[in-house]
Amino acid sequence: MEMKKLFENGRTVFSMEIFPPKKPGTIKSIYSTLDGLSDIKPDFISCTYGAGGNPADTSTIDICRIIKEKYGILPIAHFTCVNNTRADIDKAIELFRAAGIENVLALRGDKNDRYPPKEDFHYAADLIKYLKEKAPELHISAACYPETHPEAESPVADILRMKEKEECGAEHFMSQLFFDNEDFYAFREKTQIAGIKSPIEAGIMPVTSKAGILRMVSMCGASVPKKLARILNKYENNPEAFADACVHYAIDQIADLITNDVDGIHLYSMNKPDTAKKIFEAVKNML
Ligand code: FAD
Repeated sequence: MEMKKLFENGRTVFSMEIFPPKKPGTIKSIYSTLDGLSDIKPDFISCTYGAGGNPADTSTIDICRIIKEKYGILPIAHFTCVNNTRADIDKAIELFRAAGIENVLALRGDKNDRYPPKEDFHYAADLIKYLKEKAPELHISAACYPETHPEAESPVADILRMKEKEECGAEHFMSQLFFDNEDFYAFREKTQIAGIKSPIEAGIMPVTSKAGILRMVSMCGASVPKKLARILNKYENNPEAFADACVHYAIDQIADLITNDVDGIHLYSMNKPDTAKKIFEAVKNML
C-alpha cells in the first residue's frame, strides 16, 4: 500500500513506532506489545532498526512481517545506511520482498564510535536514490527535524536536505520528537516555503522517565519547554503522578496538533501499549 494514499482522505493519520526487544532471542515478547497496540487499529506501525545497522540482524523485518501477517496492520521497516554496504542493502531488499514489506523509512543512522561508517552511503538521500533504483516497488518515507538535526549546517540547509530527500523519492516524512508545538508549526511553514509537498507526521513521545527523556533530548537536540520541565521536577518521586502528568502533556500536544491540521501523529509507543491506549482514547474522536 502506498503510504501517501493514507493521507488522501483528509483525516489525521495516527501511527505508532515500536522497537525490537533488546535481548537477543526474545523476539516473541513483541507479541504482548502488538496485542495491546493492535486494539488501537493504527494506520500503520513502524519498527526501528538497531543502531549500528547490523545486516545480520533481521529482527526489524521479522517484526514487520508479524505486524502485517498476524495483525493485518501496515508495517514500515526503518532501515539505516551509514553502516551498510551496497551488498548489505541488496540483501535487505531481498528480505523486504520475501516478507512482503512495501514501506521503508530510509535513514542515514547515527554516527557512532562503536560502529565505524562504511563508505558506500553518506546520507539518507543516497539510500533513497539507491532503493528507488534497485527496488522501485518500495514506498519510501524519511525523517525530518522540527528543531533541526544536530549536525546540520544550518536550519535552512536542513530543510533543503529534506527537500532533496523528497526529490530522490521520499513520499512521506516522520518527525523527530518535539515538546513545543510552536517549533513544529514554524518548521512546517518553512517546509511549505521550500515547496515540500509530502505529508509530515508529527513525532510525539510520551515521557515515561525523567532520566530517559533527558538522555534522549541530549542526543537528538530537542528542547524541554518550561511546562514539561516543571512536570519532570515536581513529580519525579511520585511515579503515578508522573505518569498521569506526562500522559496529559502528550494528549494536550496531540489535541492541539490535530486542531491545527497536522497531517498525522506518529506516537513513539516505547513498547508501552497501556500508555498508548490512554492517549489514543483521549483523542480518537478528533482524528
Ligand atoms: P540525513 O537526512 O542524511 O541527515 C543527516 C544530517 O546530514 C543532517 O544534519 C542533514 O542536514 C545533513 N546532510 C544531509 N545531506 C547532506 C549533504 N549532502 N551534505 C552535508 N550535509 C548533509 N536511527 C536508527 O539507528 N534506527 C532507527 O530506527 C531510527 N529511526 C528514526 C526514526 C525517526 C522518525 C527519526 C526522526 C530518526 C530515527 N533515527 C533512527 C535516527 C536517525 O538515524 C538520526 O537522526 C541520524 O543522525 C540522521 O538520519 P537521517 O536519515 O535524518 O539523515
